[in-house]
Amino acid sequence: MVKKTAAVIGAGIAGIAASIRLANKGYDVQVFETNAYPGGKLSSFELKGYRFDAGPSLFTMPHLVDELFQLSGKNPQDYFDYLRLDETCRYFWDDGVKLTAHANQQAFAEEIEAKLGEPAAHVLAHLRDSAVKYDVTEKLFLHRSLHKIGTYFNRDALKGYLNMHRLDAFTTMNRANERHFQNPRVVQLFNRYATYNGSDPYQTPATMNIIPHLEYNIGAFFPKKGMVDITNSLVKLAQDSGVTFHFNTKVTHLETEAKRVRSLSFEQTQDSGHKTVIDPSYRRDDNKPTTQDYDIVVSNMDVVNTFRKLLPNAKQPERILRQPKSSSALIFYWGIKQQFPALGLHNIFFSNDYRAEFTHLFEKKTLYNDPTIYVNITSKHKLDDAPDESENWFVMVNAPNNDGQDWNDLINKTREAILKKLSHNLGVNITELIECEEILDPRLIESKTSSSQGALYGNSSNNRFAAFLRHANFSREFQNLYFVGGSVHPGGGIPLAILSAKIATDLMPY
Ligand SMILES: Cc1cc2nc3c(=O)[nH]c(=O)nc-3n(C[C@H](O)[C@H](O)[C@H](O)COP(=O)(O)OP(=O)(O)OC[C@H]3O[C@@H](n4cnc5c(N)ncnc54)[C@H](O)[C@@H]3O)c2cc1C
Repeated sequence: MVKKTAAVIGAGIAGIAASIRLANKGYDVQVFETNAYPGGKLSSFELKGYRFDAGPSLFTMPHLVDELFQLSGKNPQDYFDYLRLDETCRYFWDDGVKLTAHANQQAFAEEIEAKLGEPAAHVLAHLRDSAVKYDVTEKLFLHRSLHKIGTYFNRDALKGYLNMHRLDAFTTMNRANERHFQNPRVVQLFNRYATYNGSDPYQTPATMNIIPHLEYNIGAFFPKKGMVDITNSLVKLAQDSGVTFHFNTKVTHLETEAKRVRSLSFEQTQDSGHKTVIDPSYRRDDNKPTTQDYDIVVSNMDVVNTFRKLLPNAKQPERILRQPKSSSALIFYWGIKQQFPALGLHNIFFSNDYRAEFTHLFEKKTLYNDPTIYVNITSKHKLDDAPDESENWFVMVNAPNNDGQDWNDLINKTREAILKKLSHNLGVNITELIECEEILDPRLIESKTSSSQGALYGNSSNNRFAAFLRHANFSREFQNLYFVGGSVHPGGGIPLAILSAKIATDLMPY
């Protein structure tokens, strides 16, 4: 019997997950990726003896990755291994106050009481509330299309409606957190979770207080071979399942006819020359793909660019495409020739004025001169990520999405501000310890992954209707076209991008 064929545009994590699910459904699957490597944002590179994960650094909901192996009849541990973290983050304030967020809820709550005087009971109540919110939203919003009528008429939906008031959709995250906590630093700590989907805690609905549930109730994890192993192990699984990857192959146009995508046009791209580690197996199939009629086409390209670039003559869903985008990021990858026992895998150095920082990011669309700094050091767990006596620092600040700002000027100023703040907090001149450096800014995020405005998470979630203003996982106009990834339902971040592949493939007719 001739197999049905599927084309996947983009080998981001959602495209890879979709390819595995399609192969499991019996399709002959071809993945077309413009870069020389898979993973999109979830990739890694090496620089002078240091290894860096290029994008995501926090791994939550690993069962969604495991599920793809199980679905394919494989043992996840044969491909992919990870550990659960005992502490989720270390927090620092400029006046010397430090706090460790232990994975154990009781220990975390007690640490907050000891260091900041906030009753432990308040923290525990907040985490319970987070779990309830997650329970109400999970089945309704995360596992199903919001654009199919069946989603709204079933037992899970009914349970959701009855508990809708628990979601706190009519107040902001910041207001709810000010209600829950007395100490402004505890409010700041929990407001930070808005940044996990690129939103503003002073605008995003308090529903987003579901996010701490992922870290404190389900857990934070670390892949033993680094974040990039999520990509590498799933590509291996996809290849073992019969999926063919075509790297350096950009999809340039979708030809449509009679309410279907009829064919794809391609362009061979050059290696961009940056330092991404390229596994030889990525080049397993370098045959120039031929234009052909696929039964199913799945776009993992940002939905804005799928319409604007691949389907310019199709009806554009303007209202959805024009939604404000999430924040982006400015990252300095530094090889640091010293080890810092005071630091852990995840570290946050808070701004002294969080509200001003977010006003700058989302209203003024620029960077604040005292930004909150995130330092991720994978060599704490994966020792060979840095030379002896050294550490690989991934230093990130939230940045506005790309709107044509003078990035070179912002990068110079922010680099100075970061070095000053970190040197102050750690009591040593960090500038003198930097052995090598690479920089990623919103322009580069946009050009390397085709993300509209370099947003990390597609649309922002700064209003209570945001979930309904993401594009569906299917096309209303073209019967064989589907969408996956952080720019469509249910949203950005690794877990949701993986879930988008499940939702899209569940909607396919066969
Ligand atoms: C700096 C940074 C930090 C982050 N931190 C976290 C974190 O800690 N935890 C977390 O869960 N998430 C985090 N995220 C978000 C997470 O990385 C993304 O939500 C997720 O990886 C998106 O996956 P995706 O499959 O939608 O798309 P992408 O990774 O954007 O992949 C899309 C792929 O499609 C390819 N493509 C696009 N157009 C074409 C075309 N025309 N033809 C062929 N190929 C094409 C691109 O080259 C790319 O490889 C972070 C992101 C960044 C950038």
